[in-house]
Amino acid sequence: MKYSSKISVLLLAIFCFHITATAQNKSSKKPKRVIFLIGDGMGLTQISAAMSRYNGQNAFMRFPVIGLSKTSSAKHYITDSGAGATAFTIGKKTYNYSIGVDADTIAQPTLFELAKLKNFSTGVVVTSSIQHATPASFYAHVPERKMYDSISTFLLNGNCDIAIGGGSKFIYEREDNRNLVDELEQKGFTLIKDHELKPINKSKFIYTLARDGMKSMEEGRGDYLKKASLMAIEQLKKNKNYFLMIEGSQIDWGGHANKYEYMETELWDFNEVINAMLDLAKEDKDLLILVTADHETGGLSLTKHEDRLKFEPHYATKSHTGTMVPVFAFGAGAKEFAGMYENTEIFHKLVKLLHLK
Ligand code: MG
Ligand code: ZN
Repeated sequence: MKYSSKISVLLLAIFCFHITATAQNKSSKKPKRVIFLIGDGMGLTQISAAMSRYNGQNAFMRFPVIGLSKTSSAKHYITDSGAGATAFTIGKKTYNYSIGVDADTIAQPTLFELAKLKNFSTGVVVTSSIQHATPASFYAHVPERKMYDSISTFLLNGNCDIAIGGGSKFIYEREDNRNLVDELEQKGFTLIKDHELKPINKSKFIYTLARDGMKSMEEGRGDYLKKASLMAIEQLKKNKNYFLMIEGSQIDWGGHANKYEYMETELWDFNEVINAMLDLAKEDKDLLILVTADHETGGLSLTKHEDRLKFEPHYATKSHTGTMVPVFAFGAGAKEFAGMYENTEIFHKLVKLLHLK
């Protein structure tokens, strides 16, 4: 009896030690760094379909916390990407096609602007142009999303340290002939225009790799998005606080075109970027990884196929739809993102977690 009770005490001690050790390995409650991944037009059906046909690791299955985001804008049940991203960046529902302004067209402070006031480094990495609605909503304020030349000038404010994507035309071939290159360089930015990504060791840079949007995966974009994201982080992490937004911009474009394979290959690419970011978060207890969408695109449904193990993809529209979209969270503060809420709550949750106000 005495011997077995000694064993019990020993086992209890080992058990308690294990609990303590596990707790210490867990993420902190307050993130110091955030990687916010937006799959434009990526609804639950897109994820279900694409990932069921993928051979690699399903990144979405690695998340311990899942929520649902309601995507309607202030004036439309069906949002566009301007109002969708602006809901995340200013925390207010606004009208479709707006960028960083509220329903009365008044500019509101964005997540990047608030983060800058707290000495964060910030960046966007996208497969659209860097002036496209989703990234623009993080650093610009314009009443209409198509004002690309004007959106570029907001980079001068210095609220976005790193921008990688397409869109050279709105910097180098401007309709107003303004020399934005000189102006940006005077503000400390390094500007690079190239067709392929090469390493760069600068804390503030604007790297454009296409005149407008980048190539699609089907056209041979390769692992640009993962490489560019890791390259941005390499610089951002020199600051203990950073906020990086990565967009799988063209998941939406495949949806608009009702081209299933276009959407699917874009989502596979995005999946690999998420995997790479989750690998970083495993090693960094102060990092929050957030993955969501601004809206669903195409009204994709999966119906019966003559091969019973397959599905037939069907589109209901060439536009966006009003269905809720999933939110996946991993790491520091992830628990805050469980449940069902309006898209604007993502802003409020981030502001609270990062002490941005
Ligand atoms: Mg977008
Ligand atoms: Zn769209």
